[in-house]
Amino acid sequence: MDCIFCKIAAGEIPSKAIYEDELVKAFYDINPCAPVHFLVVPKEHIASINEVNSENSAVISHIYEVIAQLAKQLKLDKGYRVISNCGEDAGQTVFHIHFHVIAGVHMGEKLI
Ligand code: AMP
Ligand code: ZN
Repeated sequence: MDCIFCKIAAGEIPSKAIYEDELVKAFYDINPCAPVHFLVVPKEHIASINEVNSENSAVISHIYEVIAQLAKQLKLDKGYRVISNCGEDAGQTVFHIHFHVIAGVHMGEKLI
């Protein structure tokens, strides 16, 4: 399958990695929209939130554990935002589920 995040997760395409274990990889976004902007992806290919089910959902909770750990490590004490775009209207461009972690700026304009 020609999936860029599968290739990054497997180390076949270089990335600025922050964290890796047997289940997930975290790396900086190539086109950051804030002073801190990294992505956390499962190594297993899951296309989007729409494909999360009882068979694969454990990796999603693990991703949130990793985000909490990285937030402490990177001292994101003033807060951060986690976003997972799902589908066309949300602007998803890479169809391998990923969680954007954005920080380092006061996000005054809120959608929700
Ligand atoms: P989304 O629009 O939610 O699907 O997010 C995809 C994100 O992946 C965008 O923020 C891109 O900048 C980022 N991206 C695409 N290719 C790479 C890459 N090779 N390394 C790091 N980030 C990437
Ligand atoms: Zn993939």
